[in-house]
Amino acid sequence: MNKQTKESPIVDVQNMSKSFGSTQVLKSVNLSVQPSEVMCLIGPSGSGKSTLLRCIAFLEQYSGGNVFIEGEMLGYNDNTDVRKLTSTNELNHVRRNMGMVFQQFNLWPHMTALGNVTEALVRVKKFSRREANEKGHAILAKVGLAERAMHYPAQLSGGQQQRVAIARSLAMEPSVMLFDEPTSALDPELVGEVLQVMKDLASEGMTMIVVTHEMGFAAQVADTVVFLDQGEILVKGSPQEIFQGEKPPRLEQFLKNYM
Ligand code: ADP
Ligand code: MG
Repeated sequence: MNKQTKESPIVDVQNMSKSFGSTQVLKSVNLSVQPSEVMCLIGPSGSGKSTLLRCIAFLEQYSGGNVFIEGEMLGYNDNTDVRKLTSTNELNHVRRNMGMVFQQFNLWPHMTALGNVTEALVRVKKFSRREANEKGHAILAKVGLAERAMHYPAQLSGGQQQRVAIARSLAMEPSVMLFDEPTSALDPELVGEVLQVMKDLASEGMTMIVVTHEMGFAAQVADTVVFLDQGEILVKGSPQEIFQGEKPPRLEQFLKNYM
């Protein structure tokens, strides 16, 4: 992918730590994601991947360190006056610049695909219904669902629902997309169509952080692969370095499960 290392990073995580009670789940994590970079986050279950994404997305309060989004320090740690942040709408502003797609699609069941994609455009971005529908149709077409705009989630396959969820995030024109195991809840035959949409996004230059167990996707699409183990970044490198290079035993052992 076309990496532009000269620009300031879209996401910059510095010394992030996070504890739940006395359990330290993230230990001084540092990572930065450049414009158009695709970073894949891999690691064993319980290593802290979801917590890291949730902290970046400000869905979870972290315990120490800082997160910069497009150069703006909008920390949401224990020292942050969250009321002040929310009252100035900074937090909402940042959340809106990040799209997040989860394992569970979380679509509104009482709304059509188009309704799911356009709701925030109307309510948050104050588009007229007509403008929102126009944009919604275009984005649904982009994820291959032009024919499904008027279907309800229950009438769609898991793969189609997840593509609607991606479309819903894209509608807000985020500067970075965060994916947390977006294909893990899907039947195997539906995984490919979702990965294809993500590949297309990557090749269009979308900045992405993807937690995934799809090693083929990581090898093919990632610029950077990060191996998280017990709350620490153990290895960070190009797919080639991670998958073909000399590996520390923990990574070797982890990757064996995917051979
Ligand atoms: P992963 O996504 O890599 O599987 P998680 O980030 O979900 O890992 O979890 C990392 C660790 O944090 C696990 O030990 C998990 O049990 C713990 N954890 C996650 N969320 C909470 C929570 N809300 N309360 C307490 N412990 C949590
Ligand atoms: Mg997880």
